[in-house]
Amino acid sequence: MDILKRQREFFMTQQTKDVSFRKKALKKLQKEIISREDAICDAVYADFKKPKFETLATETQFVLAELKLVLKNLELWARPQRKSATLMNWPSSDWIYSEPYGAVLIIAPWNYPFQLALAPLIGAIAAGNTVVIKPSEATPNTSKITAEIIEAVFPKEHAAVVEGGIEVSQNLLAQKWDYIFFTGSTNVGRIVYESAAKHLTPVTLELGGKNPCIVDESASISLAAKRIVWGKFINAGQTCIASDYILVHKSVKEKLIDALKQNITKGYGENIEDSPDFSRTVNQKHYNGLKKMLEGEEIIFGGNTNDEDNYLSPTLVNEPKLDSTLMHGEIFGPILPIIAYETEDDIHKYIMNYGKPLATYVFSNNKKFQKRIINNYSFGGGAINDTVIQITNKKLPFGGVGASGMGAYHGRTSFDIFSHQKAIIKKANWLDAPLRYPPYNLPMKLVKKVKHLF
Ligand code: NAD
Repeated sequence: MDILKRQREFFMTQQTKDVSFRKKALKKLQKEIISREDAICDAVYADFKKPKFETLATETQFVLAELKLVLKNLELWARPQRKSATLMNWPSSDWIYSEPYGAVLIIAPWNYPFQLALAPLIGAIAAGNTVVIKPSEATPNTSKITAEIIEAVFPKEHAAVVEGGIEVSQNLLAQKWDYIFFTGSTNVGRIVYESAAKHLTPVTLELGGKNPCIVDESASISLAAKRIVWGKFINAGQTCIASDYILVHKSVKEKLIDALKQNITKGYGENIEDSPDFSRTVNQKHYNGLKKMLEGEEIIFGGNTNDEDNYLSPTLVNEPKLDSTLMHGEIFGPILPIIAYETEDDIHKYIMNYGKPLATYVFSNNKKFQKRIINNYSFGGGAINDTVIQITNKKLPFGGVGASGMGAYHGRTSFDIFSHQKAIIKKANWLDAPLRYPPYNLPMKLVKKVKHLF
């Protein structure tokens, strides 16, 4: 592929190794995003009626905050880090150099179509790589404006967008990249991992999962409901870290359901279809999949649809069966199943039924219970007494584990994942300690006893 060849040649010119060159490009990107912020909001709206406030908060301002942090800290992050020497290599000065991998491929999904293409790009460019982004074909308007922005800011040999669907993605994956950053479903993540393995290309896989939201009997129910409803129905439930299902202690289940219903109506009004604050499902295929999940289920709130607009209202489902389509995989839409539990063993059975999720939430005022959930289960990240907000702190790494992915990014972590950590020892010549050379005359007892040999 011509673009990869051009990027490789450009990388070899060493220009991207210069931190001021990277900063200049990122500043230009910052300017371009600021000047086209309204157009980006319009594009995302055209794709799935995402409310402007949500696009500002979760796409453009999110990306601008990432840029600001990187621009402030890049010199510090990119500087070689000195480490103390060991007795074995003394006298020397020991260093870690952060070295760009080279040509990076970023494959993005549709659900936060601007943020999930741009945030990894910022890390990759900051670390000195060249980048090709493949945005999602499911959000064509955002894909187009992303391509325009990148073209306005970067020469193609530094960063470029290749638009298209699965075939384009597969053609890109067949090439030999130096790093692949993929955000999307677990199934496609497997395909990406396999393609990368052929070339031994390192990957970050940001995947999905079935995220439990646990509400125990000690929880502050009305506040819990407010925070669950916000995190679940923002972006019409098409959020990788949204609560997938609720496990609620049976003694507070009815109270929680009432509070959930109240909060949905408070946020989106009686006629949610008319609310300017509620997105649509991204396309007909996904919409039909969600409708199918509702077949045979006990809908206790919502379930309203409009086929012309891929509209599915916020929907609560009571006690779905474990073997139902709804409880089979990630829902990724505005449907929230509610399941009562009695004991912690019940919670355990549910959680262990699925791969490690991207997020887990616990609403509880019982510190010991909170601690048990955090310590006993493996998941990407999460929150106590809230949902989704763990993504907002750029000092925290964002990523999955097991079935929900590998590797993490945001802030400093983004710089680090797109950098190879190269260990260098600068050896002094004024002394050449004889202890490592044969014949080995050092008494064995001493070898075992000497501290800091390594
Ligand atoms: P997807 O896996 O269908 O598509 C993602 C990207 O992969 C798209 O660009 C698409 O063109 C490409 N693609 C699709 N099929 C392919 C194939 N067979 N071969 C090669 N490339 C292919 O995901 P999606 O539907 O766009 O996004 C939703 C999924 O992404 C959900 O599972 C969600 O949880 C996950 N997600 C994860 C995160 C995270 O940060 N962990 C963030 C957002 C979304």
